[in-house]
Amino acid sequence: MGYIDTFYRRTIAEDVSIPALVGNIECDTCIVGGGLAGLTTALQLARSGQYVCVLEAQRIGWGASGRNGGFVFPGYANEHKAIERAVGADNARALHMLSIEGMEFVRDTISDLNIASAAPIRGITSVSRHENGDELQAEAGRLQREFGYPVEYLRLDQVRSALRSTRYFQALRDPRAFHMHPLNYLHAIAREIERLGGKVFESSSAISTDLSRPEKTLRTANGQIKARHVVIATGGYTTKLTPQLKRAYLPIATYVMLSEERPDLIRSAITTADAVLDSRRAGDYYRVVDGGKRLLWGGRITTKAASPAALAAQLRREMTNTYPQLADLRIETSWSGLMSYARHLMPQIGRLQPGVWYCTAFGGHGLNTTAIGGKVIAEAILGQSNRYLLFEPFGLVWAGGLAGLSVAQLTYWKLQAVDWWRERSSYQRQ
Ligand SMILES: Cc1cc2nc3c(=O)[nH]c(=O)nc-3n(C[C@H](O)[C@H](O)[C@H](O)COP(=O)(O)OP(=O)(O)OC[C@H]3O[C@@H](n4cnc5c(N)ncnc54)[C@H](O)[C@@H]3O)c2cc1C
Repeated sequence: MGYIDTFYRRTIAEDVSIPALVGNIECDTCIVGGGLAGLTTALQLARSGQYVCVLEAQRIGWGASGRNGGFVFPGYANEHKAIERAVGADNARALHMLSIEGMEFVRDTISDLNIASAAPIRGITSVSRHENGDELQAEAGRLQREFGYPVEYLRLDQVRSALRSTRYFQALRDPRAFHMHPLNYLHAIAREIERLGGKVFESSSAISTDLSRPEKTLRTANGQIKARHVVIATGGYTTKLTPQLKRAYLPIATYVMLSEERPDLIRSAITTADAVLDSRRAGDYYRVVDGGKRLLWGGRITTKAASPAALAAQLRREMTNTYPQLADLRIETSWSGLMSYARHLMPQIGRLQPGVWYCTAFGGHGLNTTAIGGKVIAEAILGQSNRYLLFEPFGLVWAGGLAGLSVAQLTYWKLQAVDWWRERSSYQRQ
């Protein structure tokens, strides 16, 4: 299956499809899933001299990894306080430092491999839709104190000169975070894995496995791979091939739309090159792309697949509610993708049994966390570290099946109601 229509497919640097697996191969590690998690693991193993094979059912980056917002910033889908409650202050701090390391890994990989087409741009602004300058300044102080991580506090006048919306109040700006073209990044990584002697196969779904012996076997329609280690990195597209993983996550859809080319109109609303998030739990995220010509706008989550076009109408309403001056901006295309969420909202990174590893459930925070997931799993396979054990408390708990999806949807609606109430109070006070 080819790529769906996204901004990234339209601006792909080099669209060369890779042949499917045919015949038998023996390698050190076989990775299932050619998204950010799978390819980062493969890259790190190949860099250390392992002979790796990657099986991707569709195309490289066909899943969430090649169609997301492109925001690379520290943290996890769960809040730091909740992580502290689960594992204590020291381990929560260590986990947060890993999430920063993940962001830096992506930045350094772009620079080391000279991936100009990933087009990284520094700066992510997280803006509040209600008055909370005191809280934001306290948060900036905490990030500096606890992690030595500086972020800039933006006053209301600074926010509104960059983002011309009366919906917005104060903001925090992260100058180390960045946004990028994830599909071009992934293609460059796939090429690097092959340059290092690894093999990447597209159109090669793993359809059956025998993982019980020291030498594992994975079969595709036309081939078979034998490997000492197997890593499952199938994200929100995980199937019954790995039932333990399938039952441990909820597939949650989120949506993005791309505007027509209207640089002047867009500039009348947004004058910053930063990517922007609003601080609601499942708020809007957007950035100006294509050298300032278009706007890429994402938001909303659903637990049942909805049509991207119908959701784009809702996103468009959000956009014009924030920026009435964009009422004439047409939307050219929209798309959705599946994220994988565990009940505890943390990544699932660990060992199923000797030689069988998993690296999944990155939620909406995958651009930094897949990098750290891939890195620590590779270190474990190579016997270099056991840092993956920091994720052990967040195991493969049952996600609740259909009931879990209903609870997730209800929780989302409840959070939306809280956000709406806070926002309404600040907006009316202006
Ligand atoms: C619309 C959208 C916007 C987002 N925006 C952001 C953002 O701005 N910042 C951020 O940090 N995160 C964002 N995310 C989340 C982020 O994209 C994901 O967390 C991350 O990409 C997950 O990567 P992954 O490798 O685990 O999964 P995926 O990228 O989904 O990769 C899994 C791959 O496994 C393959 N596969 C499945 N089964 C098999 C099989 N049996 N055999 C072979 N291959 C198989 C699939 O085809 C797929 O390509 C967004 C997600 C979406 C959907």
